[in-house]
Amino acid sequence: MEHDPYKRKTCRYCDEPLGKPFLDLGIQPLANNLPRREDAATPEFHCPLAVVKCRKCHLVQLTHSVPAALMFDDYLYVSSTTQTFRTHFAEYARDVRGRLPQKQRPLAVDIGSNDGLLVSCYEKAGMRGVGVEPAKNLASDANRRGVTTLNRYFGVEAVREIVSQYGKADAVSANNVFAHIDDIQGVCRNVRELLADDGFFVIEFAYLATMLEKMFFDMVYHEHVCYIGVTALSFLFAKFGMEIFDIKEVDTHGGSLRVFVQKKGGPRKPEPAVERFLNAEKEQGLLGEKVYSDFAARVLDFKHKLNRMIVAVKKEGKSISGYGAPAKATTIINFCELTPAQIDYIVDDNPLKQGRLVPGRKIPIVPSAHLTAQPTDYVLIFAWNFAKEIIAKIGFLREKNVQFIIPLPEPTTV
Ligand SMILES: [Zn+2]
Repeated sequence: MEHDPYKRKTCRYCDEPLGKPFLDLGIQPLANNLPRREDAATPEFHCPLAVVKCRKCHLVQLTHSVPAALMFDDYLYVSSTTQTFRTHFAEYARDVRGRLPQKQRPLAVDIGSNDGLLVSCYEKAGMRGVGVEPAKNLASDANRRGVTTLNRYFGVEAVREIVSQYGKADAVSANNVFAHIDDIQGVCRNVRELLADDGFFVIEFAYLATMLEKMFFDMVYHEHVCYIGVTALSFLFAKFGMEIFDIKEVDTHGGSLRVFVQKKGGPRKPEPAVERFLNAEKEQGLLGEKVYSDFAARVLDFKHKLNRMIVAVKKEGKSISGYGAPAKATTIINFCELTPAQIDYIVDDNPLKQGRLVPGRKIPIVPSAHLTAQPTDYVLIFAWNFAKEIIAKIGFLREKNVQFIIPLPEPTTV
């Protein structure tokens, strides 16, 4: 493309020139920028959405980088809204605290701290917690609730400010944001600067191997620039004089990893898990090409199957609504080219999303009471990773002959 200002020329981890993408989802709008109903006619920002693997360090990443300011200034996702997340981060904070037994009130800094949930868990676990969050609304909300949060991008100035006010950090964490930051080499440099020599860096992210195995292709959207495996990570950290010393499997988004990193030669002996993951990735073919082209073929096949199913339902004169408008719904809807003529509306419990539209395809998002009042014949569950909970909640609609469609890994009616 001639006018392609956001195209990435080199690998985000190792600077190797990037080759051809293995998966191309087309030119798509931003998954989390939900237009207001009154802005329906305003053109949205669009950018190619395609995934490429680096030949050298094997990082799987997007071919394009959308400037962060276009995506994160007014973020509609608030983590504390679910009990699952609260329980998860309480355990996370205890895990971090338990790895610093000799320290009195250690300093833990969370990068991309969202509304400050993890930072407040650090405090409860007996640490000093500091958050860094670029989204204005989330940072000011956290500070209002007494959770110390710097409203800025994590950069040299943020590090300077933290070190001068609180000292070097014993722990630095970056959770799903680690996959969201385009200049990850800059982050590594700054984390190294912020960390005490005996401190550690902990990141949590959705695991590449799980995405490939379970067909989580709807994880692909512009904010999510990297799809992380242990091989690529160990390459990245080695470049900055750091090493992975432990890996733990966690289950937030169905198959995430929590990876612990220290400065090379730090006080912790690498656990056997590190070698085990590296070997498993080799055995699964994550360093080759075939596993990726197979994945792309399954994604295309999914699009055909879902479209066939929806066309058949509409032919019978039946109506369809959607359940859940997370970012992944934008990916499925836009990649599969679903229209408001096919999907009447989508319900979502997040009040910030209600009254808005699905990017690109402009399907209205409404409160879930709408579904009870005006049930459709079918409900397509876009938040399909929570399908069990959702069906438990709205299963009573079966009495009105409502059927549920679970889109992935294969479109299925239940
Ligand atoms: Zn690379």
